[in-house]
Amino acid sequence: MKKLVYIILALTLLSEGTVLRTKDNLSKNVKYDKYGFQPLCATCTGLITVASFILKYDVSEPVVLEFATIICKLFAKQPWAVCDGISSQFRDEFFYVFRRLANESPSQICGIILPDCADPTDPSESGWKVALPPKPKRKTVLKKKEKRPKDVSSSQNMNVLQLTDLHIDFEYKYPSEANCDDPVCCRKSIADPKKAAGYWGSVGKCDIPYWTVENMLSHINKTHMIDMVIMTGDYINHVDWEYSIEEHLSVLRKLHRLVQESFPTTPIYWALGNHEGVPVNSFAPHNVDERFWPTWLYKEFQTMSQPWLSDGSDESLLSFIYRRGSYATKVMDGLKLISLNTGFCEVTNFFLYLNQSDPDSSMSWFVKELYESELKGEKVYVLAHIPPGDSECLEGWAFNYYRVIQRFESTIVAQFFGHDHLDYFTVFYEDMHNVKSKPIGVGYAAPSVTTFEYQNPAYRIYEIDPYDNFKIIDFTTYYADLEAASETRKPVWEKLYSAREAYGMTDLSPISWNAVTQKLFKSDKKREQFYKYAFRNMSPQCDTTCQMQLMCNLRMGHHNSTLYCPTL
Ligand SMILES: [Zn+2]
Ligand SMILES: [Zn+2]
Repeated sequence: MKKLVYIILALTLLSEGTVLRTKDNLSKNVKYDKYGFQPLCATCTGLITVASFILKYDVSEPVVLEFATIICKLFAKQPWAVCDGISSQFRDEFFYVFRRLANESPSQICGIILPDCADPTDPSESGWKVALPPKPKRKTVLKKKEKRPKDVSSSQNMNVLQLTDLHIDFEYKYPSEANCDDPVCCRKSIADPKKAAGYWGSVGKCDIPYWTVENMLSHINKTHMIDMVIMTGDYINHVDWEYSIEEHLSVLRKLHRLVQESFPTTPIYWALGNHEGVPVNSFAPHNVDERFWPTWLYKEFQTMSQPWLSDGSDESLLSFIYRRGSYATKVMDGLKLISLNTGFCEVTNFFLYLNQSDPDSSMSWFVKELYESELKGEKVYVLAHIPPGDSECLEGWAFNYYRVIQRFESTIVAQFFGHDHLDYFTVFYEDMHNVKSKPIGVGYAAPSVTTFEYQNPAYRIYEIDPYDNFKIIDFTTYYADLEAASETRKPVWEKLYSAREAYGMTDLSPISWNAVTQKLFKSDKKREQFYKYAFRNMSPQCDTTCQMQLMCNLRMGHHNSTLYCPTL
């Protein structure tokens, strides 16, 4: 669901009106968000007065909600059911946060949610800094290198399957309309649709049917030897105006069973995505009222993760999961996996407006886990949903995450993300304000399983060398062209590209990825290819704004478009 709708909701819950400008009306030097809209800053600042009025005269919440719904319909151009749903989904959370903020400065909210409204790097508490331990003396970090036994060939490399953003729709209907007025289509049976939904899914405004995920998993099982599965969040469909805890639990249980049955003896590691929240994006830290805590989700998440946690029975580990929806576990000797809940960086997780600093101590816990691994000479994989440079991630989190990556560059060997549905990577630098400084890390935003919006479904397999610090040797992305599938013709899952082949790389080090960014910036042809891969589609729906965003993403480890966006 679009961030824009939530922003409108937030603003209209506070105000008498919100004005949006489409990109056609704007001069070239104004930046747009990824959806092509630029909310007016003046409107937001005007809200402060209105907000005070609402508080002063105690305008009833239902009246404000009704008004918000109307504005949502007019300006976000969403159907009534969607606006009603969103307003009621956020009602309790929003008024709770708003009332608490009223004693401080409601204007904080403008700077945080509107890109050009205030200093985006330091409204509210976004300037927080997690404490980083000093680097240990060289002696203590050296670890005896695991030697590859002589009789072991490179075919002993491990295969790690990443599945991300499944967004399974259990209500997917066939036949149905694929181009409807709702934000998500393919859900109402229609005998004679204008644009017919595909039996196996539709490349458009539709999520993926359950049976296509089953088909994909069965194909993977038959075709590849998988040593480990990583799931990077967003398992629930995009119909977020209808979200409920019961429905979420039901989907998570069905999906967990399906993946478990497909890979019964393979370790499966899960991370939480923003769509796992009810309402969407909502992850209340424990400094707010207990009624908002997502304990139901963390408990389920713990049940899903527990079979493969190294200390599954350890009470303290369980309490960590309950506490913040994150965990750390030993995958094998010398390798730890940290699953980090990025719900705490989500820009429309309104609870964070009360205090963004290190929500539920997640970042300091992350540092502690990394430091312990560093001292042991252990390597770490990071599993998380929202990439830090994404516009939906708060800068306070992104900035601190970047600092942690810098500090532990020799411990963290891979970062796996999802969320954007498009396939790209991000290079991190020794100096986060200088793209000419040494590249020290790379994060992979993997392609989604869902087709929402306008991509073909995909999965990815990383080849890992367990005898060389668990480094990624290569990865291959597989996809199915759904336009070629039909009721009588099953989807054909095939290789789309491998990183080394596609970009002529000798290894997948940060330095090599940085060299790829330069190749892409210089060559129109290579960029065209990159966009096709990003969408898993030979004719991707990616206009110049979308293309530029993808190029910026390649270096956007936190938010600084002036620095990270290339001149093409
Ligand atoms: Zn997603
Ligand atoms: Zn997401």
